[in-house]
This record gives sequence, C-alpha cells and structure tokens, in this order.
Amino acid sequence: MRTLLIAGNWKMNLLRSSAVELAQALANRFAQPPEGIELLVCPPFPYLIPVHEVIAGSAVQLGAQTSYFEPPGAFTGEVANEMLVDVGCRYVIQGHSERRHVLGESDTVVNRKVRASLQRGLRVILCVGERLEERQAGQTEQVLDRQLETGLREIDAAAAGNVVVAYEPVWAIGTGVVATEQQAQSAHAHIRNWLASRYNPEFARAARILYGGSVKPQNAEGLLAQPDVDGALVGGASLKADSFCGIVDAAVRARASAG
Ligand code: PEP
Repeated sequence: MRTLLIAGNWKMNLLRSSAVELAQALANRFAQPPEGIELLVCPPFPYLIPVHEVIAGSAVQLGAQTSYFEPPGAFTGEVANEMLVDVGCRYVIQGHSERRHVLGESDTVVNRKVRASLQRGLRVILCVGERLEERQAGQTEQVLDRQLETGLREIDAAAAGNVVVAYEPVWAIGTGVVATEQQAQSAHAHIRNWLASRYNPEFARAARILYGGSVKPQNAEGLLAQPDVDGALVGGASLKADSFCGIVDAAVRARASAG
C-alpha cells in the first residue's frame, strides 16, 4: 500500500508568530507519524527556518512552495534549491496553479524547476490541473497530458521516483468547490495510466498522486478512500491546526477502511 502524503501549502499567509504557533501545534500532535501517513508543511520562505526549529524531531517535514532553477548567483529575489536543502527542506512544490496562472510560469519553466530541484536532492510535488473552461470543453485529460509531458521531460524513472504528482483542478483551488470523488478518481487514474506508459507499470503502481482543491476535514475521507488518491495538498484548511489535523484523521480512517 502506498504511503499517503498530507501536505499543507501555507501560500503567502501567516506571520512569524502565527506560523510558529501552527507548526508547534502540529509538532505536538504528531511527534510520531500516523501509520502509513507522511506529513508536510510548506511555509513562506521567511518562516522556513523558525518553522523547522519547531518541527525538528517530530513527524512533520518541511517543504517550500517553489524555487528557482539556477544555482546560487545573481538572480535577485529568487531562492535556490541549495538554500532550501540548507534550511532543512525535504520537498518543494513546483507548478502550482498560482505560479502558472498568476505568475506566468510556463510548462517549460516548470520542467526546468522540477529538474533542478531533483538534481539538488529535493523531492518535488508537481502540480497539474485544468481550468474550468478546459474542463467544460472536455479538455481535462489533454491538459494533464501536456503538463505531465513537458513537466517530466528529460526526467528518467530513477529521478521521477522522487516526484509526487498533485492533481489540482484550478476551479477547485480556494473556491470551496471540491471535485467529486468520481472526478478526482478519474483524473488520478488517468495520471497513473500516463505514468505507466511514460515509465512503466511498476513505476506507476508505486507513484503517489495527491488531490488538491478545497480539501476540508468533511470531504477528505471520501476523496482519500479513492483507490488512486494517495494524499492531499491542502491550502486554506492547512492554516488552522484543527482543520489540518482533521484531514490527517480522515486519512487515518481512509487507510484503515482500505485495510
Ligand atoms: C492549494 O493551494 O494547493 C490548494 C489546494 O488550496 P485550497 O485547499 O485552499 O483549495
């Protein structure tokens, strides 16, 4: 059975005190990982270090929300993968829809970022997902194929073993409109089939595919019980310890009922 990953994307939220307080609450609650579940928080850059200090020794791991593809150098305002490793990050999110659609990152830029992060030893959460108009036009699978094809270009199976794909339909992110369990399962199964043909069936069976988009404690169990949903990338509901813990509890139940 694949280990579930419940990841909190704090986006550009919280201040130092509230970030540390939230991290402390999670570290207190998860001194040990729930069985078969991996936990991750991705704070804004300035809070990576204070959050890491608080979660060190607990089951909560540290990740970042993006990074640049170049090694350290003259790139004002950017953050290098080496720096993320240096401050204790295990993971980095790449290709989040806000980076793609608000900040203009192309599939090619996302691919360069994914490759650079993997080369520096980080695990990557690669986000893919269609916009509402693309879903309505019946183009969901085409969009996912394009984002996967370019996002994973020149990444062999050994390196891609450190990639977790997150299916995040853009219309579900931060909107309160969650994908139905069937919509999520169908997109995830499509992604797994794509991975099987791009790499191999064994690779695809081991790959983890997260769902993201308005995940809450109330809807998490049904989503996480789907056979191809291996965790959640959580935005809004990761900003409060109670709701993040509620999603982790739902993951524990989903795993228990999967036997
Ligand atoms: C996200 O930021 O990746 C996300 C899924 O946000 P939310 O849970 O708020 O929809």
